[in-house]
Amino acid sequence: MPYTGNVLVLIETNREGSPKSTAAGLLRLAADLGKPVAVAVTAPGRSGGLVAELGTLGAANVYLAESESAATELGSALVGALADAVHTYGAGLVLVPATNDSNAVAGRLAIVAGGSVAADAVAVRFDEESQELIATHSIFGGDFTTESTVEGGLMVVTVRPGSIEGVAETVASPSVTIAEILTTTATGATVDEVSEAAAKAGRPMLRGAKNVVSGGRGVGSKEAFSVVEELADVLGAAVGASRAAVDAGYVPQSYQVGQTGVTVTPQLYVALGISGAIQHRAGMQTSKTIVAINKDEHAPIFDVADFGIVGDVFTVVPQLIEEINNRRS
Ligand code: FAD
Repeated sequence: MPYTGNVLVLIETNREGSPKSTAAGLLRLAADLGKPVAVAVTAPGRSGGLVAELGTLGAANVYLAESESAATELGSALVGALADAVHTYGAGLVLVPATNDSNAVAGRLAIVAGGSVAADAVAVRFDEESQELIATHSIFGGDFTTESTVEGGLMVVTVRPGSIEGVAETVASPSVTIAEILTTTATGATVDEVSEAAAKAGRPMLRGAKNVVSGGRGVGSKEAFSVVEELADVLGAAVGASRAAVDAGYVPQSYQVGQTGVTVTPQLYVALGISGAIQHRAGMQTSKTIVAINKDEHAPIFDVADFGIVGDVFTVVPQLIEEINNRRS
């Protein structure tokens, strides 16, 4: 018998009250598993277009709460709303984006609602034979795949951004529950001030990006790093870097991909002048298609690359950009 339960999805929203990019994949996964219920909390007056937007992403049900604390306290209102929704829908599964803020919500929810967390999953399936929900995890930089389940109680799964492809079928008129948050939780960290990180207009954030172009020490200097940015902009990609490039001051630490940086699972990952050390691969090895450009034909990055070019980035990348532009026109 297939899974017939309600699957709750934590919807991350931006300050304007629109769903963040993590919503589409999670709603797709929820729709594949059972009946998706989008759970969102916004600051008062900011939930205007949210229901319609969630409908286009496949939310059949939307459980919506407005809270003064949504903008001033990290996670508490979401923990309360999710705990209430678990009760209302009798849900056995909650999907949460594996991002810094939402990971904390997942842990707090599991304590409040009496469940356990399966962390950093890349897929979730229902095993009809055992009637168990099974989370799949890609570990040690994608070298091993493991599975986990929760025996008894609520299963809260944090799902790696970018790991679920596609969008669920649109639901024209989702059923909406406007809820008051009833479950009270311990006070979370308070937000005193918010400052927007300056990002180039139109360039996607690294975490959850569909395409990523990263540069390494081989790029040579901060000025020359523009070769990485130019290719990224042509591909509509986010910009990443190796730790050596960060340590050399080419780009800020927030660009770092790898074991001690951001883990990405884009459709396309392009590595420019990156040797492919295990610590770097740990953060990008599960990318769908990997392209590497490196002068050294023995560089380990070629072991994980789907397409490799042995050559100088400053010779190859301009030709690549020209060819992409030619094909587009
Ligand atoms: P290098 O290893 O120096 O490689 C540069 C490459 O560029 C070479 O392969 C060279 O052939 C090529 N090259 C040079 N010039 C050109 C050119 N003109 N055109 C084409 N190719 C060229 N690293 C990370 O990236 N992320 C992490 O999160 C991370 N965490 C770490 C955690 C720990 C605990 C430790 C010990 C290390 C960690 N590292 C991490 C560092 C990691 O071990 C490597 O040192 C680092 O990834 C190397 O970066 P790189 O490939 O840019 O530099």
